[in-house]
Amino acid sequence: MTCINCPMGCQLDVEKLADGTLKVTGNACLRGETYAKQEVTAPVRMVTGLVRVKGTKRPLCVKTKVAIPKGKIPDVLAALAATEVEAPVALGDTVIADACGTGIPVVATAPFAK
Ligand code: SF4
Repeated sequence: MTCINCPMGCQLDVEKLADGTLKVTGNACLRGETYAKQEVTAPVRMVTGLVRVKGTKRPLCVKTKVAIPKGKIPDVLAALAATEVEAPVALGDTVIADACGTGIPVVATAPFAK
């Protein structure tokens, strides 16, 4: 796999050893090893998107506060599509308190004035 943590884009290989541990090669730093192990065991992604704002055609930019399980992405995108907020919104305001049972909030990435 390609490490997506920085522009170097190291090509990572993950091997499962006889004792069940994972061996990562091709990484130039520890972040790559951590990423590769996470990716083969429990992949996560940040989700960014837009939600409607009442009374305007301009959308609000949002993101999950931290990365969520990759399998939850379609559900979270559907939740964003069904969400409408009221302005004003401040940077970092919570838009969805718990993104589809992940326990992770979705927050505004920019302020939105009335
Ligand atoms: S392993 Fe380290 S240096 Fe290589 S792409 Fe990932 S973060 Fe960048």
